[in-house]
Formats: sequence, C-alpha cells, structure tokens
Amino acid sequence: MKAVRGLMKVFITRRIPQEGTEILSGATGVCEVSQWDSDEPVPRAELLKGVHGAHGLLCLLSDKIDAEVLDAAGPNLKVISTMSVGFDHLALDEIKKRGIRVGYTPDVLTDATAELTVALLLATARRLPEGVEEVKNGGWSSWKPLWLCGYGLSGSTVGVIGLGRIGMAIAQRLLPFGIKRLLYAGRTAKAHAAEVNGEFVPLDTLVSESDFVVVSCSLTPETQGLCDKAFFSKMKKTAVFINSSRGAVVNQEDLYEALKSGQIAAAGLDVTTPEPLPTNHPLLTLKNCVVLPHIGSATYSTRGVMSALTVQNLLGGLQGLDMPSELRL
Ligand code: NAP
Repeated sequence: MKAVRGLMKVFITRRIPQEGTEILSGATGVCEVSQWDSDEPVPRAELLKGVHGAHGLLCLLSDKIDAEVLDAAGPNLKVISTMSVGFDHLALDEIKKRGIRVGYTPDVLTDATAELTVALLLATARRLPEGVEEVKNGGWSSWKPLWLCGYGLSGSTVGVIGLGRIGMAIAQRLLPFGIKRLLYAGRTAKAHAAEVNGEFVPLDTLVSESDFVVVSCSLTPETQGLCDKAFFSKMKKTAVFINSSRGAVVNQEDLYEALKSGQIAAAGLDVTTPEPLPTNHPLLTLKNCVVLPHIGSATYSTRGVMSALTVQNLLGGLQGLDMPSELRL
C-alpha cells in the first residue's frame, strides 16, 4: 500500500481479532495500515519489506524483531506493539538504543493462561489424553484397579518457578484443590505470596520437594535452559513437570531422557522449541508427555481484549501519547 501524505505508516504482521481492527478503522486520520493478511506467520522477507518506512509495527511473539528488522524499518519507527506479554522475541537493547517505544499485553491474559496451565496440569497428572485414546482404540476392557492411575493434587506440594502475574493466578487456582504446601522460587520474595501461603525457597529446594513443578517465569538469559539434566535429576520420580512459560526454559533432550528413564513421572508443555514442534519429535512418542500448541491465552474474549489493547498501545505510541501498557525499557 502506498503512503498517503501526512498519514503515518503501520505494518501489522498477521490477521488479528476484530476488536483491534475496529479500533484501527476508527483511526483513519492517524495512520494507514498494511498488513500480512493471513493466519500464518509473515515470511521474513515480507516482514523486512512490509516494515520499510513504517512508523508503527504491530507484531506477535512468533516475529523475531531484531536489528535487521529495525534497520529495514528505518528511522521513522516510533513504536512496536506486540500482542503478547512475553517480549523475549524483541531485541530490547537495539530498540532502546533507537528510542522506540514498546507496548505489550500484561494482565489481560493472566486468567486465561493460568486456567489453561491448571487444565494441562490435571490432564497430565491424571493421564487424560491416554484415557481418551484408550476409549477410542478399544483398550478400555473393564474398570481395573491398577489401570491409568496418576497423581492427585490433594495433600501435595506444588512448586511455582516465577510467582509473577500468571504464577500467582495459577497458585490461587490450585489452593482450593487442597494442596499442602506452595513453594515458589524467583529472584526476589514477593509480598503477594502471603495470599497463597507461598514459601520463598531456593530453586533446588523447590525442585526436590515438589510433587508438581510449574514453570511460569519469563524467558531471560538466566532462565534459558534452566530445566536441564541436573534440574530433572533432583525432582522426585513421582513428580509432574509443567511448563507454560516459554519452550527455551527447558532443555528438551534432557526432559526426554528424564521422562523416558522414569526419572520423573510426566510432563505437560504448552510451549516448546521450536514451535510448532515437528511431528516426528521424540517427545511426541512418549505417553507421559502432553504437548499443547501454545494455547495459554486462547479464549475468544482474551484474544479480543489482547487485540484491542495491542492496537491502543500502537496508536498511543504513534501519536506520542500514553500507551495503556507500555514496557519500561
Ligand atoms: P511476570 O508477572 O513478569 O512474571 C514473570 C516471573 O518470572 C516473575 O515472577 C519473575 O520473578 C520470574 N523470573 C524472572 N527471572 C527469573 C529467574 N531467573 N528465576 C526464576 N524466576 C524468574 O510475567 P507474567 O505475566 O506472569 O508472564 C510470565 C511469562 O509467561 C511470560 O513472560 C510469557 O513468556 C509466558 N506466557 C505464556 C503464555 C502461554 O500462552 N503459554 C501466555 C502468557 C504468558 P522475579 O520478579 O523474582 O524476578
């Protein structure tokens, strides 16, 4: 699309829910929009082309926004608005150097992501995908005392790595299941942990004492590969591992070995490396590994609110106004 004189140029890397596009159509005097009009990711070459001369970029977590993209955009770029709370796909140092503002979507997806994490935990611990499969393939012969047994939350110790917004919402949802202890690890103790009787402990203590280890921290250089061979070797053999943060927090080869050898009982992953996980990936051969396609925030209403907030952030940044959720760089 050609730039109309006076209007700022915006590039959007995907089709987004209508709650956002409606707000954009009401902002016709502010910007003109070009968009990768597809549900599939924009190819890198199209991203580099589309962003050329843009004042605003609306992107998703699957778009790597690095120096190459920023160079392709050029000096007009004022704002990057990502439709995600995670920002590990953004080269923040480069963005900051260029004085570009960043919008993101904290809070609005917390409930949906926590709910999905609890669903994944229960599905993994109580072996729901295996059970459903047995019903379909004729493996269900009778009620059997020793068949398809798993692990329950009642009386258990749950360890949350990263008691942030989502970690806290997960803990709040798990408490009513009658858990005995709620441990958490992170960089600092949290005042809000008292609401869930959370005990701040060293990571090693959390890993070795928990029946359920739930990862909900952000992906940073320190958390990259945090869950590796040494980590899994400290877990109980009966423990269940759940990750709904980012795939790169886990060393998947080490996780595979831990699951295959019985070092840990089971794992549930909403996030993997890469995404999508290739269908021939070894993890998918394991019955005790439940993998979901990164659907933490995927409720209709949450995606609608995320879309609207992402566009509001974009418009605020374009016009030099307040952004409802600006990442402080
Ligand atoms: P948040 O409130 O910023 O929480 C992040 C937590 O990570 C903080 O409690 C922080 O603890 C912890 N953390 C940072 N470095 C750590 C370290 N080295 N060791 C242990 N913990 C560390 O963010 P949020 O809104 O809860 O979101 C968390 C993450 O969830 C996002 O970054 C995103 O990657 C992921 N997410 C996934 C989905 C999905 O669809 N599966 C959806 C939304 C978000 P301290 O404060 O002590 O540093």
